[in-house]
Amino acid sequence: MERFEPGWYYRLSQFFREKFGHPLYKIPLEAGFSCPNRDGTIGRHGCSYCYNPSFSFVSGKEKPLSITEQLRRGKKKGAPGRRYLAYFQTYSNTYAPVEQLERLYSEALQDPDVVGLSISTRPDCVNRQVLELLEGYARKYHVWLEYGLQSSHNTTLERINRGHTFQQFQEAVRMTRGRHIYICAHLILGLPGESPEMMLQTVDRINGCGIDGVKFHQLQVIKGTPLAQQYEEGQFDVFASPEEYLSLLCDCLERLDPGITVHRLAGRVTSRELLLAPAWEESSAETARKVEAELIRRSSWQGRLARKRNRKNFSE
Ligand code: SF4
Repeated sequence: MERFEPGWYYRLSQFFREKFGHPLYKIPLEAGFSCPNRDGTIGRHGCSYCYNPSFSFVSGKEKPLSITEQLRRGKKKGAPGRRYLAYFQTYSNTYAPVEQLERLYSEALQDPDVVGLSISTRPDCVNRQVLELLEGYARKYHVWLEYGLQSSHNTTLERINRGHTFQQFQEAVRMTRGRHIYICAHLILGLPGESPEMMLQTVDRINGCGIDGVKFHQLQVIKGTPLAQQYEEGQFDVFASPEEYLSLLCDCLERLDPGITVHRLAGRVTSRELLLAPAWEESSAETARKVEAELIRRSSWQGRLARKRNRKNFSE
């Protein structure tokens, strides 16, 4: 699909095709990191919605398999000749001494089929040393740094116990820019206390931050989390149907700068057993099909109503 034709949004797959001429696949990795919002550095209770095994692979072992072995197993599932990004996904993947980070990232990049890294972390878990390390890799490999933001509203971040502010996210992005590193932000739509207008404001604000990609998730309430208790007490509601979510998601896409790649349209739990609400969940392919159909129905595309230009954040 051509840019700016009805139904178009900037899929990550299109970005990879444009940049490399072929697709890239991510292999999720568990590297044994922790999270400062759980180990007591920032907090002990974590974000109110978080149960890591619900959205990333957690072996439950004290010492996970080596990165090399995890990559070997991940590649076995794909066709020969594929190229991969090593996706450091579980917990906060820059939260360790820089020597330990270097050892783990370098181990992943030794694999000849791995052409880069995708590293998921918190905005308050980077510093100059870590970013210099990543900049070194980014000069030779393809590197994404994914910051969990979820909302640009500090009242919401406080309510879900994120333990950082929007300003800290902006500062992390500012420090990351200009280092050849691609930046992705994670957002959750439907957080407690947020109106649709607040969620659209978040999109407007990230347009101006200098990021390169975004992952959208619908709020999913996982059993046993603090959020589940609040949900059962009737403190907030979730999207009642996929259509309700998709309508707001398309509003967000229309407001999203067309230069920002869309890495994900909706979240999926690793096991439906863990999900308290909402009662629905769709496959990624189904969500993508419906989003495209809705944008076509609106004669619209990503960025048609964007308010700010995204600033280019790397100098290739
Ligand atoms: S920062 Fe990430 S890993 Fe830590 S509690 Fe929040 S969602 Fe969970």
